[in-house]
Amino acid sequence: MSRKPEKLIDKKGLRLDGRKPDELRPIKIEAGALSNADGSAYIEQGKNKILAAVYGPKEVHPKHLALQDRMVIRCRYHMAPFSVQERKSPAPSRREIELSKVIRESLEPSIFLEYYPRTIIDVFIEVLQADGGTRCASITAASIALADAGIPMRDLVVACAAGKVDDTIVLDLMDTEDKMGTADVPLALMPNLKALTLLQMDGILTSKEFESAVNLALEGCKKIYTLQKEALRTKYVNMKEVEE
Ligand code: UDP
Repeated sequence: MSRKPEKLIDKKGLRLDGRKPDELRPIKIEAGALSNADGSAYIEQGKNKILAAVYGPKEVHPKHLALQDRMVIRCRYHMAPFSVQERKSPAPSRREIELSKVIRESLEPSIFLEYYPRTIIDVFIEVLQADGGTRCASITAASIALADAGIPMRDLVVACAAGKVDDTIVLDLMDTEDKMGTADVPLALMPNLKALTLLQMDGILTSKEFESAVNLALEGCKKIYTLQKEALRTKYVNMKEVEE
């Protein structure tokens, strides 16, 4: 592991990558990036590069996994061996199994699961390059992929983290801040419904700091939500223009 830099926030109040505490990393989102999936999305958030692909609703195999009153969401979050500094084994790690569950549970409340009983939707997430906050960027991308697949949804789910580095509450932590900082609070939100679908915390915060971190993450979510909608609009407006 790299050594902890002396300061994560400099005298001017700027972070290691030059961002202000309440600044997101640059974000690029493309809806429908893969032609062979039913729905897909690609996201770059800082150095994170993540692909999400959705298949379904389709028949459930093996059959005993089917539910009589709703569809099943199956999610696989996977990091490519070359996605991190130290080569990661391609076999699923405990962390990836846990994140697959966390991401699935963040997405489920947004989907009208009861519309397609006895079916399944597969959500595949491939992290090509990781630099902190991949669970949040994965949720943001997977939700666009679900919308791109035409799955009936209550709202998009958007995710973002805030946390504490040195003595400052900051938005959208990158890997060094995540590892060397004091706390990390990832959350996921359905903005139109004003409903949280994920809230985690790692580290130590006072209740006041926790409140500031949650509020900052919510602000970040609102900005990313605009980018999500723009990405979907770009794909479907372009498609319409080609058809005309
Ligand atoms: N990471 C790594 N090797 C691993 C797993 C994670 O270097 O095997 C890095 C990666 O940059 C990741 C970060 O650690 O984004 C933080 O991981 P965490 O488990 O906190 O999840 P995330 O913040 O990505 O949602």
